[in-house]
Amino acid sequence: MGGVPRFWRSIDNRYRLVGTRCENCGEVYFPPRVVCPKCRREGEMKEVELSGRGEIYTYSVVRVPPEGFEEKAPYVVAIVKLEEGPLVTGMIVDCDPGEIDIGTPVEATFRRVSEDGEDGVIYYSLEFRPVRREE
Ligand SMILES: [Zn+2]
Repeated sequence: MGGVPRFWRSIDNRYRLVGTRCENCGEVYFPPRVVCPKCRREGEMKEVELSGRGEIYTYSVVRVPPEGFEEKAPYVVAIVKLEEGPLVTGMIVDCDPGEIDIGTPVEATFRRVSEDGEDGVIYYSLEFRPVRREE
């Protein structure tokens, strides 16, 4: 599974979305960065747990999917603006493409993609689903 990001792992059966925040300018980065591109050496990066909540910043409906995703089409791929600020690209699941719009509130959800046999780390891909009022 080359290329599967390592940022998401299960700890005590809870999923954490971890980014980094620059202590100098307050900017939050996801995926985590080691150095703040604005502050460079002046910035000190600290890990922060993100809420996973955000809203649709922009999106597109994929009707002609890449190989391996045929049964999912049509599906929505969006750039989500997390409430802490970072923009993240992810698939929007559990939705009808018609109910997605710019500004639709979403929350992160995780899909198990693989388990690393050596250290038992379970990898998840990050997806989002709409937050519905009744929830
Ligand atoms: Zn900074």
